[in-house]
Amino acid sequence: MAVGRPAIGLDLGGTKILAVVISPEGRLLGRAGHPTPHSGRSALLGAMAGAVREAAAAAGVNVWETAGIGIGAPGPTDPEAGVLLEPPNLPLDCHNLPLRDLLQPELAARIEVENDANVAALGEHRFGAGRGVADMVYITVSTGIGGGLLTGGRLLRGAGFTAGEIGHMAVAPDGHDICGCGRIGCWEAVCSGTAIARQAREAVLAGRAPGLLARVGGDPAKLTPAEVTGAAAQGDPAARAIVDRVVTYNGVGLMNLLHLLSPGMIVIGGGLTHAWDALVAPAIAWAQAHALRRPAAACRMVRAELGDLVGGMGAAALLSDGAPD
Ligand SMILES: [Zn+2]
Repeated sequence: MAVGRPAIGLDLGGTKILAVVISPEGRLLGRAGHPTPHSGRSALLGAMAGAVREAAAAAGVNVWETAGIGIGAPGPTDPEAGVLLEPPNLPLDCHNLPLRDLLQPELAARIEVENDANVAALGEHRFGAGRGVADMVYITVSTGIGGGLLTGGRLLRGAGFTAGEIGHMAVAPDGHDICGCGRIGCWEAVCSGTAIARQAREAVLAGRAPGLLARVGGDPAKLTPAEVTGAAAQGDPAARAIVDRVVTYNGVGLMNLLHLLSPGMIVIGGGLTHAWDALVAPAIAWAQAHALRRPAAACRMVRAELGDLVGGMGAAALLSDGAPD
């Protein structure tokens, strides 16, 4: 970002909009949040502009004085045109929404638009665990699995702007795990929080997991990843089998990333990192043990640092991506 000027980051989520103002060093100067309206594009644009203005006011700056506004948006985006393409969980009239053209005149500031996983990768690279690491992979594991790739300190977007869709790398295509995308055996179809809960329900419904069923009072709908890892830690064999499978395929996914990109660091965030010791640490060990020696030795795999602010801070970092600073 331009030397000395704060930048605004806007994290557009399916349930909430968060705007932050940060200093060039990544210090939080102001923030404002709103629930995401679902009544159409004009309400959405109004809420986004309102959050930006409120965050700027909280930081004591004028929007036009900042380096600009970075927007991290769900689903695929066209970062060159500044367009939101197909955001999941937002009304249909928000598809193909030219955010830059619509917000730039109103807010009188430079606007950059990027997919939220790429934004999070950039945030960890600039301000979080990946500071100073030129070749970095970011992975977020929660209800799905997403990612972002930095090579030579820059986001790798790909020809279709979809590079880093690592959740849909196939890890078990001969299995029975159907992904939300319709394919079989995507990484997120085996290892996301949604997938862990699904495997637990399947085990219960097949009569293979009486311990798990008892744990949730006989209601399979209450099976969560935390219940599965908790039961596994206490020695429940069905839960242990699910955890072992998830760990192995997490390890396969990490190993594939090591072989493809030879990153200096893989930063892992998202809700499932709460189960770091059960699901992540043993997967890292698996990948380090099975991968080619050189990429394994060159890579550290660590926990993300920015937490809930990663989207906003990463969006603000869009104002400096690739720029000399
Ligand atoms: Zn998929």
